[in-house]
Amino acid sequence: MLLENMAYTEVETYLNEKDIILVPVGSVEQHSPYGLIGTDFIVAEAIARTVGDNMNLMVAPTVCYGVSPHHMAFKGTVALSPSTLIIVAEDIVRSLVAHGFRRILFINGHGGNIVPLETAFRQLKDEGLSGYFDVLSWYTEAGVKQTCREAFGDNEGHHATPSEVSITKLLRPSAFSGKAISEQKVEKPKYYWPLTAAEMRTFFPDGRMESAPWLATAELGKQIVAKAAEDLEQKIKDILTLNVL
Ligand SMILES: [Zn+2]
Repeated sequence: MLLENMAYTEVETYLNEKDIILVPVGSVEQHSPYGLIGTDFIVAEAIARTVGDNMNLMVAPTVCYGVSPHHMAFKGTVALSPSTLIIVAEDIVRSLVAHGFRRILFINGHGGNIVPLETAFRQLKDEGLSGYFDVLSWYTEAGVKQTCREAFGDNEGHHATPSEVSITKLLRPSAFSGKAISEQKVEKPKYYWPLTAAEMRTFFPDGRMESAPWLATAELGKQIVAKAAEDLEQKIKDILTLNVL
């Protein structure tokens, strides 16, 4: 059930029964020579829509751009600053609350978005806005983490991971013609965080972070989407039992 495909009358009908909506959020940032710049939002959107279909929940249009300034030394990255995402998230939540939504869950595909989103929710609560607001990252629950570990072990890494690349291979197979395929060394440098864009490129020269994205396959992508959706559905079932004031 996609908000973008509904008439306002259908949203009224939905709100008579339910007060929950999923908002996919990702990033537009380099994912090494092996992966798509849109990886994070493509993956978050697919998983949010899978959960929406399985649970009959409304899914809002995707927030494609995210907080990626540390990827700016790689061409094609388009980054929001944290303060911008805070304002965008606050306006999205305020709009949805004004219409009667009370459980607003951002389904996230990019680590850099988490702190700004949590800051936005904190600020909205301090303003006195009613509702339950949360960010659920598709890759952090125990079940999907285990699936990714079993598939890729230590080669999973932290950025341009074979897991996320597998999901995009499933969803956008034709986009992979022309992408790198050769195996490289998986380096594990000792580093600190956060990094500037220049530091990021120095520690991780081709944009991968400790990952082996050439191991990605569409078949594994299918399994990972299913597991991530299952994990989120469990979590959302709990959230639906909350007495949200
Ligand atoms: Zn990513």
